[in-house]
Amino acid sequence: MEFTALAPRRRTRQIMVGDVAVGGDAAVSVQSMTVTKTADVEGTLQQIYALAAAGADIVRCTCNDLEAAEGLAAIVPRSPVPIVADIHHQYKMALAALEAGVQCLRLNPGNIRNPSHIKAVAGECKDRGVPIRIGVNGGSLDKALYAKYGGRVTPEAMVESAQQELAYFEEIGFDLVKISVKASNVPLMIEAYRQLAEVTDHPLHLGVTEAGPPPAGLVKATAGIATLLAEGIGDTIRYSLTADPVEEARAGRQLLEAMGLREPKFIDLIACPSCGRAEIDVIDVAKRAMDAFGDREIPLQVAVMGCVVNGPGEARDADLGIAAGRRKGHLFIKGVNVRVVPEDEMVETLVAYAERIVAEGVDAVLAGEDLDRARREAESDRLALLGEQGDDANDARARVEVIRKTVGS
Ligand code: SF4
Repeated sequence: MEFTALAPRRRTRQIMVGDVAVGGDAAVSVQSMTVTKTADVEGTLQQIYALAAAGADIVRCTCNDLEAAEGLAAIVPRSPVPIVADIHHQYKMALAALEAGVQCLRLNPGNIRNPSHIKAVAGECKDRGVPIRIGVNGGSLDKALYAKYGGRVTPEAMVESAQQELAYFEEIGFDLVKISVKASNVPLMIEAYRQLAEVTDHPLHLGVTEAGPPPAGLVKATAGIATLLAEGIGDTIRYSLTADPVEEARAGRQLLEAMGLREPKFIDLIACPSCGRAEIDVIDVAKRAMDAFGDREIPLQVAVMGCVVNGPGEARDADLGIAAGRRKGHLFIKGVNVRVVPEDEMVETLVAYAERIVAEGVDAVLAGEDLDRARREAESDRLALLGEQGDDANDARARVEVIRKTVGS
């Protein structure tokens, strides 16, 4: 069943960050940021490769001193993805990063305020065809705007900050721009982006800044980013987590895949929530399966189900799955029982069959299996479990009897 619940994508101009198109009809891209010292070329490159493998299309590195700028000169030519230099206070670092060959700059308008410095950087970017992200941040909003809006960070203040910066760029005819208006407060961030989307057609970079460690950070970032994407707003995204940045890249990619905004490239693991019927520790098996698949490029939906009574039926749309029954795992492909394996081989069997499906296709894999036997064994385990557990696995009727007796006595 293919459908989309997303509003039509907002029309934006397109810019190029290296070879990655952002805005227009380009796919929404995923960004992340290294946490190494940029001067540590090998360490930073290692992290960039890990981020790219986890799904990042663009990576940002800080350019906070001369050593970092020199590091960028060595990193950019060896990076598998375009590099954005993060500039905070010193406009000369922006010029140095351009000399290093970065494919984009990020400027924080709250930190570089001198118009001649801003225009010097934009002019250099214009000559080189390098885009700039105007990165407004609620926590470092321009002090004058903060005061103007009553000593508070408001969506209006954040949008005005972006527009002021944009006006400097327009004065010199520079328009290779994307914009972000991030805040750590989710409703504030959502409203700021909504207002910004009304007044500009530049592509928007979405993020909830300083979202914090997972799982709360993941929830906050997803709440903000997904809400806007569902409204058709957003051209590139970044999760800002207090965690290994690989988690950021993975989360961004998984969100886009979950929303149908990116072709699946990796495993989509689904698992039942478990209940009184479960014949295995579903949480443990699902986690071990996730670890075993890691970041392998296997674009299949794989199901881990706690029992063979309901599992294969509930996960019939999955490409592949396993359901537990009486110390065995019943492997199924597209809802068809295929094989029975010992419980402790469930995870490795899932991985092996996933690889075979990718290599040979579903029909070829099914053709080599004794489907009748697998179906009979699954049915026999299903009936045995139903006989043992009945259709009331959580023992609700017995509990109701006890409650009635307690209340009646
Ligand atoms: S009935 Fe089976 S598949 Fe459904 S939640 Fe319970 S254990 Fe999982």
